[in-house]
Amino acid sequence: MTKDKKRKTAVREAQNATGSRYTRLAREMAAPRAGQAFRLADLLAECATLPHASVEWDFPEHYAPAVFDSALIGTAVPYGTVLELAGSLAQVGPGATITVESVSPLSQAVVVCRKRRFQLVLTQDMVNELCRQPECANTADSWAFTHCRDHLAECGTRALVSMARDWGRGRREEHDEDPAAVGGGTEADLLIKAAIAAVCFEPVRDALLDACFGDPDLFDDVYWDASQALAVQHALERERLRLYEVAQAEVRRIHKATGACVSCGKPLFAWNPGIPPTHCPSCAVPRTAEHRSPALA
Ligand SMILES: [Zn+2]
Ligand SMILES: [Zn+2]
Repeated sequence: MTKDKKRKTAVREAQNATGSRYTRLAREMAAPRAGQAFRLADLLAECATLPHASVEWDFPEHYAPAVFDSALIGTAVPYGTVLELAGSLAQVGPGATITVESVSPLSQAVVVCRKRRFQLVLTQDMVNELCRQPECANTADSWAFTHCRDHLAECGTRALVSMARDWGRGRREEHDEDPAAVGGGTEADLLIKAAIAAVCFEPVRDALLDACFGDPDLFDDVYWDASQALAVQHALERERLRLYEVAQAEVRRIHKATGACVSCGKPLFAWNPGIPPTHCPSCAVPRTAEHRSPALA
């Protein structure tokens, strides 16, 4: 009897003895695989060679994906899910080392490759890239972000500036036809809010404006039509003001939530972009460029 058949027989015996649902028991009785590491090539080899496994789903069979019993993940995995993971890791290649973070059989598994975290959906041919904070179940708000909105502030100045630049360039490409309409976007607001907590408002704002609009000194050369150059110039100034207002609103929110300086208890009112919004100027410790600040709730 193969290992897989033994496991299924054990699950069925437990099902007969307890009357519990097969899928629930299979989840509870699965061999834990968390911490297991393997190469993407090994998982692809399983995917290419292992036969279809029969699974008793707790939903209609015709919605179920074709699955195989993966010894590496420790449960039935849809072929399509593995292929989608391989697509997401195409640039890293088949030699990439993958580590299993957690497995919930017949539901989902989370795997990690070079800090990127992927939720393998085990009930559909589907993969979701997750926030890079271990154990976080959220997805990022943009393709350009490595972390979810709750963990963006913990990335530090350099990473936030780099995300602002990537997102801004993408935004500019999207608005290629109408460059004066490039401002706005909830993703820009999220970056600014994270920058407030991480005490790097100015570098993040500058990276956003530069990536979205380009160098204002070149507007006259880039836009042949003088009225368009002027429209983009106005749009840039409007967006600069809007980002400042987003920042101010975030500082007001933090001041309200904190109540007073977390160090000395004096009231907080003014905002200085160079100091943490939770501290008064006399208690603030000057921040270095790569200071990593804890996320503010
Ligand atoms: Zn997160
Ligand atoms: Zn203080």
